[in-house]
Amino acid sequence: GQSLAEVDPEIAAAVAAELHRQQSTLEMIASENFAPVGVLEAQGSVLTNKYAEGYPGRRYYGGCEHVDVVEQLAIDRVKELFGAEHANVQPHSGASANAAAMFAVLKPGDTILGLDLAHGGHLTHGMKINFSGKLYNVVAYHSDRDTGRVDMAEVERLAKEHSPKLIVAGWSAYPRHLDFAEFRRIADAVGALLMVDMAHFAGLVAAGLHPNPVPHAQLVTTTTHKTLGGPRGGVVLCTKELAKKVNSAVFPGQQGGPLEHVIAAKAVAFKIAASAEFAERQRRVLEGARILADRLSAPDAAEAGVKVLSGGTDVHLVLVDLVDSQLDGQQAEDRLHSIGITVNRNAVPFDPRPPMVTSGLRIGTPALATRGFDAEDFAEVADVIALALRPELDEAAGEALRDRVAALVRRRPLYPELG
Ligand code: PLP
Repeated sequence: GQSLAEVDPEIAAAVAAELHRQQSTLEMIASENFAPVGVLEAQGSVLTNKYAEGYPGRRYYGGCEHVDVVEQLAIDRVKELFGAEHANVQPHSGASANAAAMFAVLKPGDTILGLDLAHGGHLTHGMKINFSGKLYNVVAYHSDRDTGRVDMAEVERLAKEHSPKLIVAGWSAYPRHLDFAEFRRIADAVGALLMVDMAHFAGLVAAGLHPNPVPHAQLVTTTTHKTLGGPRGGVVLCTKELAKKVNSAVFPGQQGGPLEHVIAAKAVAFKIAASAEFAERQRRVLEGARILADRLSAPDAAEAGVKVLSGGTDVHLVLVDLVDSQLDGQQAEDRLHSIGITVNRNAVPFDPRPPMVTSGLRIGTPALATRGFDAEDFAEVADVIALALRPELDEAAGEALRDRVAALVRRRPLYPELG
């Protein structure tokens, strides 16, 4: 057989360049992480060749004895990790996990209640041109303008007014814990089911550092590639009662053959997520986010018009509010990119600037924690970011910040075994 470099030098070069980009910059996109080499190896394995429609022990293809072992290990491990009664590990992504969970319990035209996109909700929680917004009647709840926290009084009021079939709790850009017990109380009161999308914070839950939604929600979905640090993919967890409906919504409802190589990589990630080292890493994730929130709330940041939404963070990310800054979200993202730090601009609630520009940044710590960042490293990167977000940054000052980023990159090497 031919190696990738032999069969396709153009793709090989792009992969090598991406490895170099990951190694030589500081990744602070809150939804990204670095999968361990064992996960990459499982995902790059011969399991990609196998058709396995169905579920372990009940397949529509022969030769599934080994992929059955793989998928059953993934199921058992994720159930154990989160204390779930049932798990489906086949969804190809977080969006397809959410689609499957909704298909399992909703009919087109049913009403769902989800967090507004501009307030931190995900596209699949009811955005107009997403499947969720097209298939279902969506009612959105919001965060409170003063506290930055989800307004549970509004959730209750809307639930009583609209009698949704499903309430979706969970977020892509929100810096605080949600009150799952209160969501469930409201759902029960109006005869709705509760679905929690823990895609962002699943790694923190696995480490015991964030409230676990599983005891409160009939359906819990997640991605496996964010704080969990595994391959790109999705999972649906649910109660025994919903197990059949969820399985049939995924296959044959929504997908054909499962990606057993990705499921193998998920199984490896679940094993790692149960380890003491993983919990220690997630502690650094939270510590780093708190250090960042503190630094970006300091008097010099406030003078530059930089604020931290909700005044801090309980999770792996900080939402920076630039409404009062001369820099908009796009300019701030570009500024950080120019010194070697990757983040994404993000609308803030009640954002006065247009969605392509925004007045915010979402900055996360999981990838740097995976790189080995400790409190001292996070304090250094927080200081660099605070200085970079001052309105004036001349060439010399920018160069000095680039040097400080380069020093952190050298101090915490990534994927040394990959060259
Ligand atoms: N759910 C939440 C809360 C997310 O933040 C995301 C990804 O951004 C998804 C679902 C979708 O995951 P994927 O990008 O794998 O479809």
